[in-house]
Amino acid sequence: MRDDLWHLDTLAVHAGRDDLAALGVHAPPIDLSTTNPLPDIDSGGDSYEAMAGGGRPLAEGGMVYARLWNPTVARFEDALAALEHADAAAAFASGMAAMTAVVIAHTVSIGKPHVVAVRPLYGGTDHLLGSAMLGTEVTFCREGEVAASIRPDTGLVVLETPANPTLELVDIAAVVAQAGDVPVVVDNTFATPVLQNPLDLGAAMSLHSATKYLGGHGDVVAGVVAGPSATIAALRRVRAITGGLLHPLGAYLLHRGLPTLPLRMERQQTSAQRIAAWLADDPAVAEVFYPGHDGDPRGLLQRQMRGTGAMVSVRLRGGAAAASALTGAVRLFTHAVSLGGVDSLIQHPAALTHRPVPIEARPGADIVRLSIGLEDAGDLIADLDAALRASAEPSRRASAPSSPGASEGHLVGVSGARAH
Ligand SMILES: *Cc1c(COP(=O)(O)O)cnc(C)c1O
Repeated sequence: MRDDLWHLDTLAVHAGRDDLAALGVHAPPIDLSTTNPLPDIDSGGDSYEAMAGGGRPLAEGGMVYARLWNPTVARFEDALAALEHADAAAAFASGMAAMTAVVIAHTVSIGKPHVVAVRPLYGGTDHLLGSAMLGTEVTFCREGEVAASIRPDTGLVVLETPANPTLELVDIAAVVAQAGDVPVVVDNTFATPVLQNPLDLGAAMSLHSATKYLGGHGDVVAGVVAGPSATIAALRRVRAITGGLLHPLGAYLLHRGLPTLPLRMERQQTSAQRIAAWLADDPAVAEVFYPGHDGDPRGLLQRQMRGTGAMVSVRLRGGAAAASALTGAVRLFTHAVSLGGVDSLIQHPAALTHRPVPIEARPGADIVRLSIGLEDAGDLIADLDAALRASAEPSRRASAPSSPGASEGHLVGVSGARAH
């Protein structure tokens, strides 16, 4: 299957499906079995042993039990591995279950309890490491401090790029170089394999909250990690022992969503670029956070990404009150946490996703985060415009552009197509 000559769009459609024609079906079957008939004690036992160690089921012994293996989940894993240029992938019940398995496999269980974590991070990841709930000790640092933070008992380096919620880019190759022999896991949720492949830059693992772009429709909670076979075997072993399984129906939906992932990313990104540019000119906005918006002074966007993505954050001049007013005034955007779906969302990181982060590392209360979906970009701009005007004082209203659609010349050309 993993034909290196195939491009991303082709892999997204075909990966994990190469045996379907031979099975005489066109859509992947959903296998809901919790247990599997055993041919005999010995071969069943041998297969059990192989899977408990993180391997695949043996042909003779079969899959034994669903905590060890599920073929529908394996299809999604194989497809995601292909997109991430990885040998293998392991899927989990959530992004946090995936991160937990990565931490367990690389730290206390192998006698290296120390983790170096590059901030900013997703609030849940920050909380998991900061709470020491898994018996780890963490050093939070900035990108340039990784080398100085590594100790003999460091088992893992964690980073996220673009980071949440300020869309800061972290130099993956530079952190890998500083980490030396210590494996680096990159949270690739915001970029997806469409825009970034951390393994190509030397990272040991690429992790996703598949709940976000990979699922893309707001109806599956899942996580996945891609990496070399031995690394993924270790994660599967943790999964078999601790049970953070992805349900096969979730895996089916994720696999079903992959063929449109490149298209969704491309279109959502195009809209996000327009919206980021429009927001930058709005008098109510003090600062726009969007990859490349600062001119990419370190060349990171150029070096490690193939696009800017579809997440935009803004700092509002009116502070926390303006953030509260904006999230309450939008009509097309849904005020909700999460991101990466076909519909646009808006949320307040300081109060919600980053609430567990200690105050000194928490994003400002004047920041709101937008996840741009597949709606018409002009409609999204009009919604933001109306909401910003409604929440601004009269003097600002006078200086704001009256109609965002009118200033977007090329929108006129498609207005007929939109008037359905
Ligand atoms: C949502 C998210 C997670 C956690 O994933 P869940 O599926 O909610 O457990 C981790 N990292 C990032 C960047 C996220 O956005």
